[in-house]
Amino acid sequence: MNTKIIIGSYELVEGYAEKMLLKNSVRCKLCGHVIESKHNYDFVSCFCGFVSIDGGLISPRCMGDEEDIEYLYEFLVKTV
Ligand SMILES: [Zn+2]
Repeated sequence: MNTKIIIGSYELVEGYAEKMLLKNSVRCKLCGHVIESKHNYDFVSCFCGFVSIDGGLISPRCMGDEEDIEYLYEFLVKTV
């Protein structure tokens, strides 16, 4: 079985049948702050407050304007 790590948005891993989220993290393009939500009730905002994440690895949620967010989600995917 082959696996690899992919970092980015959910769109990048749409084609993979088996994927697991390893890290719930985004970067705010307005202030440059990288934030990470580590568990289900871990609500985190960036320095400027325009981007927030929540949900850890259980139910990741991201709040803010799409254009201000750089997704740094880390996925483990099965390639074969
Ligand atoms: Zn910010």
